Amino acid sequence: MRIDPRKCVACGNCVAVCPMGAIAIDPVSHRAVVDADECVECYSCYRGMSREHLPPAVVRAIRGIARLARFRFDPEPDVCPTGAFTETELSWPRTLRRAFSDPVVPHESTGLAGRGTEEVKTNDVTGRVRRGEAGFTVEFGRPGIGARFRDIDRVTRALAAAGARFEQANPVTSLMSDPAAGRIREDILGEKVLSAIVELKTPMASVPEILRALRAVAGGVETVICLGVSARCDAGGDTELAEVLRAEGFAFWRGKTNLGLGRPLWGDAA
Ligand code: SF4
Ligand code: SF4
Repeated sequence: MRIDPRKCVACGNCVAVCPMGAIAIDPVSHRAVVDADECVECYSCYRGMSREHLPPAVVRAIRGIARLARFRFDPEPDVCPTGAFTETELSWPRTLRRAFSDPVVPHESTGLAGRGTEEVKTNDVTGRVRRGEAGFTVEFGRPGIGARFRDIDRVTRALAAAGARFEQANPVTSLMSDPAAGRIREDILGEKVLSAIVELKTPMASVPEILRALRAVAGGVETVICLGVSARCDAGGDTELAEVLRAEGFAFWRGKTNLGLGRPLWGDAA
């Protein structure tokens, strides 16, 4: 994203809109500028603010006179008064930033927008996680911090070494040069996104190894990681997963229960 310095009147409205804190008013040029390295191309500024097209020179003059008279002339807080935001044509690998950060842009690899995966929420139909297996969603980043693929790569390589098998229908897996080793392609490691989800599964017996590998590497990354673990319930609605998580010292909340009302399209329906 770019802000046209010829149009910007430095009202500051857009600063609070950016979830990455990537917009600041330059004290020398008196224009809003975007830190391109921090911008994740989420388009919150471009789409989230109304755009007026007032003449910049007139707005600057009125604001200057108002300042001299010790009052302020500010546009409504959700408005860019001069339509200064300018789309930039993105090229690879920067296109990834938008795919992972702009919720209306679908991922090429899965055709889904947002983080590009339904995760295990549709497991009754997709059968990703079978009996005796545990599925993991490892979510990187949040508004305010984001995540770089360099950090995701560090974690996926550690998880692969602990026996993880990465979900094929997942945008991060599609960016791996070597999924068996959890290695993400070199040319995207510097790219930053708002958030990304890694999905994997293991036999239930390997859950402790995965959890320990994640704990060991998580402290060394410059982002936040949220972990979700899933398993199929038995006839009584229970799963051995809860005990495994407690034994490994993880606080455990049962977040979602899929009742299995979808039509199974896979063999292990019993
Ligand atoms: S809202 Fe528009 S005019 Fe105001 S600081 Fe941001 S880009 Fe500049
Ligand atoms: S596209 Fe998103 S991250 Fe980039 S400047 Fe706009 S709001 Fe901030």
